Amino acid sequence: MAEKRDYYEVLGVSRSATEAEIKSAFRKKAKEFHPDLNKDNPEAAEKFKEAQEAYSVLSDENKRKMYDQYGHAGVNNSAGAGGFSGFGGFDASDFDFGDIFDNIFGGGFSSFGGGSSRTRATRGSDVLMRVNIDFNDAVFGCSKDINLDVVEECDDCNGTGGFDSETCSRCHGSGTITSEQHTILGSFVSKTTCPECNGKGKTYKRRCSTCNGKGRIKKNKTITVNVPSGIDNGDRLRVSGKGSPGANGGPNGDLYLEFSVSEHEYFEREGDDIYLEVPLTITEAILGTKKTIPTLYGNIKLTIPAGTDSGDKQRIKGKGIDNKNNHNKGNMYVIMKVITPKRLSRDQKKIIEKINETDLKDIEIEKFDKFTKNNVN
Ligand SMILES: [Zn+2]
Ligand SMILES: [Zn+2]
Repeated sequence: MAEKRDYYEVLGVSRSATEAEIKSAFRKKAKEFHPDLNKDNPEAAEKFKEAQEAYSVLSDENKRKMYDQYGHAGVNNSAGAGGFSGFGGFDASDFDFGDIFDNIFGGGFSSFGGGSSRTRATRGSDVLMRVNIDFNDAVFGCSKDINLDVVEECDDCNGTGGFDSETCSRCHGSGTITSEQHTILGSFVSKTTCPECNGKGKTYKRRCSTCNGKGRIKKNKTITVNVPSGIDNGDRLRVSGKGSPGANGGPNGDLYLEFSVSEHEYFEREGDDIYLEVPLTITEAILGTKKTIPTLYGNIKLTIPAGTDSGDKQRIKGKGIDNKNNHNKGNMYVIMKVITPKRLSRDQKKIIEKINETDLKDIEIEKFDKFTKNNVN
């Protein structure tokens, strides 16, 4: 939902504007944006509606009071649970309206969007960012540079938004405003954050032009993130305070980095285990051999026993991923793959034919042949 604009801003009047000033400002806006006079401007109709809405609230003494105190939440009946109308028979006297909202809607004014932004500090939302990472970097950990836009304190004014501070004239430095209201629900005494100084108790003679008085500014930054070893696809890493900016002095949300690990040409990962397919010549498979094979931690010698089949598996303990998060050390599994030669020299072919004249059948093959012979359609 788009943030609702401040009604005073919509009409272009000050918060202390008189009834007459508000009326005159609305007339001007209505003329400027009347749909009949703005047939070529589709935005005008929206602006006209906005001005109408603002005027309907600010021209009504009670509604204006509610709006001054609670923002849009105070006057918008359509926002959740029927708004104020839901409290019809409520016997309400001498309590903080803010508390009702907290109790009923859980999240305080923030449930209403517009009303909260003026008065309450709210934490920014979290941001998810996808990061590609190399297989080896994921296995061993790395430091990774991430470029991002982040809203941080303005350096020029040290986050104050202005220079030459003076005590806020509206709240006299307390940062809050206490007021008593008489409404159909009874009398309310309430304390709210001063809208003039946003609860700081101070205002500034000169506004900081770098941050436009906001005290915070968007910066493009490259941050270096330490990626722990053992990161896998879909793992997330939280970078505190680098998410969306908070409102009214609320803290930033967090940034979550979600990793996408690139595939390795030979090593295949499953959790903390590593699988490696090792190609063998037929003679290596038949006769057995000692073969040098790669692991994540350098090469090792592996004994291939005589009579190895394709698909035979050997476990090499502790040569998997060293997962610093859960202190597990994975294993490595070597899967044998016997490669049948496709091109033989004349001599090689002769030798193979010679071998073929001998009886190579073992129990498994004999059993299968027997089954074939007795197989009845
Ligand atoms: Zn103030
Ligand atoms: Zn500044």
